[in-house]
Amino acid sequence: MAQQVQGVIARAKGQPVSLETIVVPDPGPGEAIVKVLACGVCHTDLHYREGAINDEFPFLLGHEAAGVVESTGPEVTEIQPGDFVILNWRAVCGDCRACRRGRPQYCFATHNASQRMTLTDGTELSPALGIGAFCQKTLVAAGQCTKVDPTAPPEVAGLLGCGVMAGLGAAINTGNVGRGDSVAVFGCGGVGDAAIEGARLGGAHTIIAVDIDDQKLRWARDFGATHTVNATQEDPVEKIREYTDGNGADVVIEAIGLPSVYEQAFYARDLAGTVVLVGVPNPEMKIELPFIDVFGRGGALKSSWYGDCLPSRDFPMLIDLYLQGRLNLDGFVSERIGLDQVEEAFDKMEHGAVLRSVVVMGDAS
Ligand SMILES: [Zn+2]
Ligand SMILES: [Zn+2]
Repeated sequence: MAQQVQGVIARAKGQPVSLETIVVPDPGPGEAIVKVLACGVCHTDLHYREGAINDEFPFLLGHEAAGVVESTGPEVTEIQPGDFVILNWRAVCGDCRACRRGRPQYCFATHNASQRMTLTDGTELSPALGIGAFCQKTLVAAGQCTKVDPTAPPEVAGLLGCGVMAGLGAAINTGNVGRGDSVAVFGCGGVGDAAIEGARLGGAHTIIAVDIDDQKLRWARDFGATHTVNATQEDPVEKIREYTDGNGADVVIEAIGLPSVYEQAFYARDLAGTVVLVGVPNPEMKIELPFIDVFGRGGALKSSWYGDCLPSRDFPMLIDLYLQGRLNLDGFVSERIGLDQVEEAFDKMEHGAVLRSVVVMGDAS
């Protein structure tokens, strides 16, 4: 029987979000219902509310979540009720040209639940990134549930579902940071700090954090930055060269998504180095670079989708590293809030006052 729960809705462009009753249908073939325990507040949720993603209002927000599987539909074999899972927004198909070539992290046909959750009047909801987890329970495709060690606190585990995974993966998977590399990270919000954490985990010996906010640079130090540059006071390209024997960094990660910053990242890189773009540009932006420098500087210009992660491979491994004390995830949780405080959390996020506000709805026990 369909269930009624509470969830956070964005009804119209730019309007404050509201807590409403949501109808969650029984899981169909290949689907699961997850009792959400915690869900982080991400910029993408705010972008949905602002109408910057698409116009398919009303949205059921929230997508950075961990919870417990409550029930599964027919044909679901990989998870069962009671499993502690992190929700991912790239359930791989196993059948597209990327999957068939053994590169499921690039799957071009990821999927979500086929049924819709609704308001009590029957209005269909668009779940953010196919998840919709600012909600006591949510309906997802079973492949969106990745089982991890249940001793990890849900408010920490859920972070791997989006921003923190994007940053960690930008360094580890896309940038391929290895022992002894020098790394520079532009933008020290949640994604950038996760890239710093990833660079540290990968064995980088120099990690240079660039931002325009001293508080964010202090956070970056806590995550393992060895040097910091406030770009309002110093030229980041010059400083990065200075901190790398005049050469530039082996891997430069752009975690903002601005053409002017990308250009700095491009020139802050050593010859034959790698630039990783993980910040998301808007559709109007263009970049202009001397073509001869694109050729002459060599190396790789890459983009990182969701940290090029494969949830089934990366989530359990990263949770294990966290539980062994080798990965700082606690540092991302700035505050724990209730479902009715999402709007305030957007405000704090816009003012750069928090890394992550996390809605907590329960614990795994
Ligand atoms: Zn695929
Ligand atoms: Zn997100």
